[in-house]
Amino acid sequence: MKKILVTGGAGFIGSHLCERLLNEGNEVICLDNYFTGSKKNIIHLLGNPFFELVRHDITEPYYAEVDEIYNLACPASPIHYQYDPIKTIKTSVVGATNMLGLAKRVNAKILQASTSEVYGDPKIHPQPETYWGNVNPIGLRSCYDEGKRCAESLFINYHKQNDVRIKIIRIFNTYGTRMNTNDGRVISNFIVQALQGKDITIYGDGTQTRSFQYVDDLVEGMIRMMHTDEKFTGPVNIGNPLEYSMLQLAEEVIKLTNSSSKIIFKPLPEDDPMKRKPDISLAKKVLNNWEPVVGLEEGLTKVITYFDNVLAE
Ligand code: NAD
Ligand code: UDP
Ligand code: UDP
Repeated sequence: MKKILVTGGAGFIGSHLCERLLNEGNEVICLDNYFTGSKKNIIHLLGNPFFELVRHDITEPYYAEVDEIYNLACPASPIHYQYDPIKTIKTSVVGATNMLGLAKRVNAKILQASTSEVYGDPKIHPQPETYWGNVNPIGLRSCYDEGKRCAESLFINYHKQNDVRIKIIRIFNTYGTRMNTNDGRVISNFIVQALQGKDITIYGDGTQTRSFQYVDDLVEGMIRMMHTDEKFTGPVNIGNPLEYSMLQLAEEVIKLTNSSSKIIFKPLPEDDPMKRKPDISLAKKVLNNWEPVVGLEEGLTKVITYFDNVLAE
């Protein structure tokens, strides 16, 4: 039985990861400061004696004896990470330093949840891991993008300087059950608006694209990454390469919810990337032929059912 620490474990992705790790027979410590996460996301795990829930902020040191660490703590939605940009940077940089210090002390393997945002508004399409990105260091999104870029640098240097066993994954837009209805990201916004018969808010002209991955596919990729060859650090892109414009997404959501909602257009936020799509050749190669299996219609249908229940409560 392995002892595994999941930071940000009460969040959207973290809660799915905790559940999966417990199901595989591990002992899990879920650490969270509940900024965007919630006890509701992991309430069903609380009866499991091998699950431990700890309120803790990773910008403060943390001591435990563990075999593996998944470092997910960080707000991920633009409205949340821009709410307190300095805190967002501290979470990525000071938080990563603490978790790396912990990994170093107890010789744990540690995986960093990095992001496609390290590519900024990309000038290469689709984005391979070798692309260095196009990020505005002083823009609205920089607290998140640059924080995550600095965390990657910290990870690689703890590996080189201190022999810490690290894994870096770059997660592309991911959605699924347990996202907050007020998360502010596009999928939750569109589905909630469609279910409530409110206007669907497209920012800009809706031609910008994203590639959406269902959370189960991500969790599978994360766990496979943790188990790759000792010397392999990544970074590896984990995402679904099927690319949609926001206009196409809005139409798909309206269709699947049978909604009478109308599409309206609002201003495009500053530095909003125009397109994004992962090149997943490396992931397929190093993660045992991993590839996403949940398509957009199937994934959206699950989230629509979930939000329908949440909104009814
Ligand atoms: P989320 O906001 O649901 O989860 C983040 C969790 O971290 C929350 O439970 C929050 O309370 C916790 N947290 C935040 N700051 C903390 C701190 N200082 N100390 C302890 N806990 C803290 O977001 P998510 O979508 O589940 O994202 C999880 C991770 O995956 C994040 O690191 C995010 O950057 C990364 N990621 C997500 C996506 C995506 O599309 N969802 C894409 C790329 C990367
Ligand atoms: N740290 C931690 N838990 C541990 C070990 C270290 O939170 O089990 C923190 C420690 O407080 C420090 C950071 O991790 O701030 C980096 O640790 P490292 O040993 O790399 O650096 P140093 O302590 O020498 O500054
Ligand atoms: N977006 C939108 N309407 C919304 C929320 C977001 O059109 O109600 C757009 C946003 O401007 C961006 C895309 O959808 O172009 C994805 O936004 P999200 O915040 O989900 O993720 P990110 O921009 O971080 O990839």
